[in-house]
Amino acid sequence: MKLYNTLSRQIEEFKPLEPPLVKLYACGITAYDYTHLGHIRKYVMDDVLVRVLRHAGYEVKFVRNVTDVGHLTSDSDTGEDKMEKGAKKYGSTVWDVAQKFEDYFHYSMDLMNAVRPNVTSKASEHVPGQLEMVKKLEEKGYTYIIEGDGVYFDTSKLKDYGKLAQLDIKGLQEGARVEKVNGKRQLTDFALWKFERPGENRKMVWESPWHPRSFPGWHIECSAISMEHLGEQLDIHTGGIDHIPVHHTNEIAQSETVTGKKPFVRFWIHHNFLFIEGKKMSKSLGNFYTIDDLLKKAYDPMAFRLLLLGAHYRSEMNFTWENLEGAQVSWEKLIDKIQQFLVQKDNDPEPTETQLALEENYKNRFFSQVENDLHLPEALAVMWKMVGDDQLTASQHYHLLLSFDEILGLGLAKIEPAEELDVSDKVQSLLDERKIARMAQDWQKADLLRGQLEHLGYKVEDKEDGQQLKKLK
Ligand code: AMP
Ligand code: ZN
Repeated sequence: MKLYNTLSRQIEEFKPLEPPLVKLYACGITAYDYTHLGHIRKYVMDDVLVRVLRHAGYEVKFVRNVTDVGHLTSDSDTGEDKMEKGAKKYGSTVWDVAQKFEDYFHYSMDLMNAVRPNVTSKASEHVPGQLEMVKKLEEKGYTYIIEGDGVYFDTSKLKDYGKLAQLDIKGLQEGARVEKVNGKRQLTDFALWKFERPGENRKMVWESPWHPRSFPGWHIECSAISMEHLGEQLDIHTGGIDHIPVHHTNEIAQSETVTGKKPFVRFWIHHNFLFIEGKKMSKSLGNFYTIDDLLKKAYDPMAFRLLLLGAHYRSEMNFTWENLEGAQVSWEKLIDKIQQFLVQKDNDPEPTETQLALEENYKNRFFSQVENDLHLPEALAVMWKMVGDDQLTASQHYHLLLSFDEILGLGLAKIEPAEELDVSDKVQSLLDERKIARMAQDWQKADLLRGQLEHLGYKVEDKEDGQQLKKLK
């Protein structure tokens, strides 16, 4: 199994520290607004990674947090708290907003057929663990306090600070000499613990040795939660590419300082963004669609999943309705094919040696693509080629699809044979009439009859073996 590791900027052979266990942590959403299609892309790609590892025989312990405290609008520890912003926008309490949008996240990901993590952990329920970690950093002499603001990590104490992002610290410092951010000693220093400002009246506050009304910074939650559930060294940590220069860089600084063990994470996996009209789909820009927007337009979440699988996780992907329409057509085609295989497979003869060898060949081609840094577009191409290969029996087609679906996660095993529709005499006579019109190549009349059938609630499709009738939703 090969994976691209941001730490080395190379594709490496993946081996966990304690096989067959794989300790995997994924940064979760900030629960202050709706989960959108961009988030879904990231978490579907995590889901595929977990499926590939499990298929390869690993026991994956998958942990993901929910950020419900401490994430400010600016990654340089200034600006409004995102949760308070969400509470204002939706006229609700921070706690209710956090629950509402965590629930919406799970609802979205369940519809996307994503496997839930072994552990989902809210930052606000992990405050003592985070506090302990900051105290340890203070004892070790890596922190300083900015009065009225918070406890900060002094990044000048670490020789290798910024290694993940390959940050040019000297260049950054020189470039920023003019604007010293809120009393930080170095531009790269970051908040471990924040204090309530006078008159702020925050809803999420805790007592700490430094301030009676204070709260954890954003980065410390992922170090504390991941280490509590997975130990001091992780095999894999995932996140969006936006997390490389600040959030993950700071997680490494805190975690490696607390434990003295390097590396904190052996494989850093970063996902590229979903764009829309040339911009990152994001809550702050307001240019987003949710899973409900797709459902309202009668798109199947599995069509969207198929669309996502068609782009490599390290490439940018542009969302358009045309592409989604194309994916919906492909999804319906796949369903049709499966329904045909289901009908035909019981009358199949036993596969010959040649057919068995071909089946094995498709399997190898598919799985070698996914195990090579999750080359899903190529794996999908193998799948479509296999679906159209009439050298295989229907039963082989069907079983290969189910085996590929362990990775694709499209829920193909749930697809049932097409219903035999018990139609009225009127519908049947329209169908018969249309069959005659088609035989006479009277396309105009055939279209007219299609319209009449639609009016009665049926969709008719022309297949190689005749007309196929479906009930409209
Ligand atoms: P947030 O809720 O903003 O903390 O984001 C949660 C995760 O979703 C992070 O790993 C982000 O990088 C990722 N993410 C946010 N927007 C997008 C997008 N448009 N495309 C892909 N991933 C995204
Ligand atoms: Zn995180």
